[in-house]
Amino acid sequence: MTRKFNFSAGPAILPLPVLQQAQAELLDWHGSGMSVMEMSHRDKDFMSIAAAAERDLREILSIPANYKVLFMQGGATAQFAAVPMNLLRGKSGADYVVTGSWGVKASKEMARYGKASVAAKPADGKFTHIPERAAWKLDPQAAYVHYTPNETIEGVEFGWVPEVGGVPLVADFSSTFLSRPLDVSRFGLIYAGAQKNAGPAGITIVIVREDLLGQALPATPSIFDYKQVADNESMLNTPSCYAWYICGLVFQWIKAEGGLAAIGERNRRKAMLIYDYIDSQSFYRNPVAKPDRSWMNVVFTLADDKLDADFLKGAAAAGLPGLKGHRSVGGMRASLYNAMPEAGVAALVDYMKEFARSRG
Ligand SMILES: *Cc1c(COP(=O)(O)O)cnc(C)c1O
Repeated sequence: MTRKFNFSAGPAILPLPVLQQAQAELLDWHGSGMSVMEMSHRDKDFMSIAAAAERDLREILSIPANYKVLFMQGGATAQFAAVPMNLLRGKSGADYVVTGSWGVKASKEMARYGKASVAAKPADGKFTHIPERAAWKLDPQAAYVHYTPNETIEGVEFGWVPEVGGVPLVADFSSTFLSRPLDVSRFGLIYAGAQKNAGPAGITIVIVREDLLGQALPATPSIFDYKQVADNESMLNTPSCYAWYICGLVFQWIKAEGGLAAIGERNRRKAMLIYDYIDSQSFYRNPVAKPDRSWMNVVFTLADDKLDADFLKGAAAAGLPGLKGHRSVGGMRASLYNAMPEAGVAALVDYMKEFARSRG
């Protein structure tokens, strides 16, 4: 068996110990005589798996007791709609801070339910930096302020949590969830599709402050009504059982790795290894303002885009797949999620050096 260093943006690399444990438990989970895939979600075995996953996530993030943790479906894209359906609470609109493609999508979907005000976006129209907080135009009457802590496509990340006064702060954490320590109490709601950094596709984690529940628009589908989902412990309908189980194994792995402080420190080192190399030469270029560079998704271009196809072909042959940038921006993108080992980043930098030497 040869495992590759998979740089895909999502679905993405998972920790090897998690996959090995899932393999060992595939046919017979803990003497139950069946796979987790075959269990009833009402069975006590699965209920214990689900409860352990929530307990471990609460421990890793020190989630305060007045927050609900929900395991939903439909990805972050469903949350683009579920957030306004649940959180407008009689208000006419919400503020969106747009720093990349996912923020654009979130605000467009929101506009079907109310007024989506763009409170800030880069003046030059290029998603290569985060507008400074002082320039944001926030409405104190807004139902909430939404932002995207890490823009997966452009590789732009907030290294800070914005202060927005008394208005609930809502964040699409999909591609940077559990990548470093986080103070959950600063947020009204956090959501993340699992398939970037927390597990397989098919499950979406929502962490929401209790006082925001119970005022969904009347037409909200029950499965997207946070109150109903919370009251039914995320089992209003059949949940994504196997994905929930794998997320639970990932949470245990994070604990075993030393928690988010250790994970965050490693992620910082991984990102610096590649950014330091990019900044040391002129063949590769990263367009993002230095303080706003993502630790999770490192985008870069080659001096001549006619070399892109050869770069990707050679990388795949060297066991480094998944480096093609998003079709909307081109170039390259190396996703360095938690499960990407430092050796993988070192192998990528070695490959980049050799390619620049022989082809640059
Ligand atoms: C991938 C991604 C999404 C879309 O997630 P789906 O699960 O496909 O709906 C939304 N926001 C961000 C920041 C992402 O990285």
